[in-house]
Amino acid sequence: MEREISTLAAWLGAARRAVIFTGAGISTASGIPDFRGPQGLWRRIAPVTFVEYRASAAARRRAFALHAQLAPLWAEARPNRGHRAVAALVAAGKGHLVVTQNVDRLHQAAGVPEERVVELHGNFERARCLDCGVRTPFAALLERFRQSGEVPACGACGGVMKVDAISFGEPLPADAFARAREASLAADLFLVLGSSLSVYPAAELPLWAARAGARLAIVNREPTPLDEIAQLVLRGDVGEVLGDAVGVA
Ligand code: NAD
Ligand code: ZN
Repeated sequence: MEREISTLAAWLGAARRAVIFTGAGISTASGIPDFRGPQGLWRRIAPVTFVEYRASAAARRRAFALHAQLAPLWAEARPNRGHRAVAALVAAGKGHLVVTQNVDRLHQAAGVPEERVVELHGNFERARCLDCGVRTPFAALLERFRQSGEVPACGACGGVMKVDAISFGEPLPADAFARAREASLAADLFLVLGSSLSVYPAAELPLWAARAGARLAIVNREPTPLDEIAQLVLRGDVGEVLGDAVGVA
């Protein structure tokens, strides 16, 4: 592993247009469970799909009840060594863009400027009206749900409000995906941190980057479908591996 970490450090040092692609695995050390790892959430709870959410008030209540249950985890989560190492890379000009599947905003909390982060799957801070597109703080809606047991309707049009983080079957925000794709095609290094690389279309990005000539390095505890085409695979803890490679405590 030591040799792989030195290689990663050297590649990061030489990078000019690195894309840092993160998944739920970078945040497990902050107390937020991932979906598909051994302790993954989907092994315990059935997710509400986008179609169900739109169609059924009962499904919306189920989704909000789950949010209410998980909200303290999100509220208490603080950036860990992995997030700090990513922030250090961006500050040093070695991370051109952070493309994240996470909705927890821990990259920003660690100090990555908002304009350097692309949130492919939205985030848990906002809610969005599925009918008119208006956005509001999610916490306020959740508080009203806690009091009434009902999911509040849109104040502007009476439509269906939903957390602005994507659900199964919901399309990705097109502008975010386009920006991530462009950066991936131009990248000289594509670094995957803590992702099972099994959620599409997000997992297409490393594939495109590699085809366009970027070096592909993957740090993940478990094997991923793209290990075969990566030049460097580090099977370990994101915080430890990247913290060592970047020299961040
Ligand atoms: P995933 O759950 O599919 O995969 C996470 C991967 O990280 C697993 O392969 C696991 O083995 C690995 N892992 C866990 N902890 C690790 C650690 N400390 N070091 C190294 N590897 C570790 O997650 P994904 O690829 O991000 O995709 C799942 C979807 O889940 C995304 O759509 C994302 O939006 C959402 N999600 C986000 C959060 C969050 O915001 N923190 C949490 C759960 C799920
Ligand atoms: Zn509306």
